Amino acid sequence: MDTLVVDHPLVAHKLTALRDATTDSPTFRRLADELVTLLAYEATRDVRVEPYEIRTPVAPATGVRLSTPKPLVVPILRAGLGMLDGMVRLLPTAEVGFLGMVRNEETLQASTYAERLPDDLSGRQCYVLDPMLATGGTLAAAIRFLVDRGADHITAICLLTAPEGTKRLADELADLSIPVRVVTAAMDERLDENGYIVPGLGDAGDRLYGVAD
Ligand code: URA
Repeated sequence: MDTLVVDHPLVAHKLTALRDATTDSPTFRRLADELVTLLAYEATRDVRVEPYEIRTPVAPATGVRLSTPKPLVVPILRAGLGMLDGMVRLLPTAEVGFLGMVRNEETLQASTYAERLPDDLSGRQCYVLDPMLATGGTLAAAIRFLVDRGADHITAICLLTAPEGTKRLADELADLSIPVRVVTAAMDERLDENGYIVPGLGDAGDRLYGVAD
């Protein structure tokens, strides 16, 4: 597994505004959307393409188009939904599947509570959207779920990552023989005692959608 921290002044600028506790929800949603599009540009660097013949107004030319099967974008509910529009803006022909993950508070194991995905993901490149790679348990379980369905290339796009979660992800997925990549705007310092990323941006779902009690 490898991690790419996107080093770009616009990414850093938008991330700073996202982190700011005074940023309201509408602004947070807009910034998250814009930030994902910037991250998606790097995350899709190795999206599969095939040669495609066209004719320009001047001459025939060989270009490329996205290969089939089309890439699959998978937001993890709930906060991953806030990243979906920013991602499909760059990959409008991608298909979208949904994955809901929940953590059992006794075993601390993450499992799937909802999914809307093709049964067979053979040959599919999957782009998983999860804003916060904190402890890493949810993302590891989501990636394993996709690989068990046949996905052969996984890129996770996370707004923020913590070193603890990145290490756990690498450890838990060490047996996989397919490429797994994490693309993020920043690797923060650590997790606090409640599992929040420090300095982080707080609860991404709450900041996107408000607190649902
Ligand atoms: N999930 C969040 O939304 N924020 C964190 O800091 C950690 C996990």
